[in-house]
Amino acid sequence: MSHVMNTYARLPVAFERGEGAWLWDTQGKRYLDALAGVAVCGLGHAHPRLTAVLREQVGKLIHTSNLYEIPLQEKLAKRLIEISGMESVFFCNSGCEANEAAIKLARLYGHKKGIEAPAIIVMEKAFHGRTIATLTATGSRKAQAGFEPLLAGFVRVPFDDLEAVRRVATNNRNVVAVLVELVQGEGGVNVCSPDYLTGLREICDQNQWLLMLDEVQSGTGRTGKWFAYQHSGVKPDVVTLAKGLGNGVPIGTCMAAGVAATLFKPGSHGSTFGGNPLACAAGLETLAIIEEEDLMANAVEIGEFLRAELRQRLGGNPGVKDVRGAGLMVGIELASPCGELVKRALDLGLLINVTADTVVRLLPPLIYTREEAQLVIDKLVPLIAEFLEQQAASGAPQPAAQPA
Ligand code: PLP
Repeated sequence: MSHVMNTYARLPVAFERGEGAWLWDTQGKRYLDALAGVAVCGLGHAHPRLTAVLREQVGKLIHTSNLYEIPLQEKLAKRLIEISGMESVFFCNSGCEANEAAIKLARLYGHKKGIEAPAIIVMEKAFHGRTIATLTATGSRKAQAGFEPLLAGFVRVPFDDLEAVRRVATNNRNVVAVLVELVQGEGGVNVCSPDYLTGLREICDQNQWLLMLDEVQSGTGRTGKWFAYQHSGVKPDVVTLAKGLGNGVPIGTCMAAGVAATLFKPGSHGSTFGGNPLACAAGLETLAIIEEEDLMANAVEIGEFLRAELRQRLGGNPGVKDVRGAGLMVGIELASPCGELVKRALDLGLLINVTADTVVRLLPPLIYTREEAQLVIDKLVPLIAEFLEQQAASGAPQPAAQPA
């Protein structure tokens, strides 16, 4: 009997070691990783350069606390500012903690403007984390159910709908910020329209709201730029980042620019582990490797290859509603719930994920080769086709896609 709290319906496999895009289980079976620890291990597993840096850092110093100066934190903050265009960085350990910092910044900003009950616009199907504030911001009743009372101070609108945001601007004087993922990961790999971010920036400027982007999943090069917003010319006020930044060593950041960059003062926020020497060494080396190995260009190329192949080979299938994504965030939306594909792929030695009930999600490491991508296609396409045939033969109802 397990003594671990029952928060995950785990697959019956345990991995012992990894190398690049491959993992080996305790029985010696090899798996191709098309999930990267849910968008974490962009450099794949056991990257030799990162391993060497981490070994050296562990031998020198792991943690001191934020009561003292941490030169590696300064160095990583400088690098993050260079690549993001932001102006200051708060370090923490996870995506939800990064978003908590963003939410607190928005509330401080609101109070500074004299708004007693500041509110943040959030999106349907959004995912921002599991703490009470980020769960409230998350647009999934399934995730929220049972944890009420949730927090006040959030207004929900449909994703990718500028008119809905404008309506809130007209009707709600308490709004101080918008928090949004440009590519909703957990919500089903939903990509916003090209003019959405520009429109949001305009509305935020007109109303003096903070534009806050959750790049926890889409950041660190995954969409082919350091951050998804860099595909447009728009500069946000707050950006959160986690997952891929430490390639598996826990680290999160909330970065801010303009008025938001100086809102926190000593005592307003903190994190015991946040930005410790080990995490910052991991972050610095991960960013250096992504740049020097040209992994963002690779993410674009391999992502386009995967989507083109999937469209070509599954496009005519009535059970496939859409193939979409950005860089190495790939979603294949089916007409019916398909969670069991995860286990079937595992049996074939392929690690994938299903999110929002009906969307097969691929988040491969950024180091993927064309051959590895081809292998994913060769394993996954017949699996999906066979699954859809069985669904049709069993006369299973084909419900519409459910919200996350
Ligand atoms: N924000 C986004 C967009 C995410 O995808 C996730 C996790 O999937 C989170 C926040 C929460 O991150 P964490 O699990 O590190 O708290």
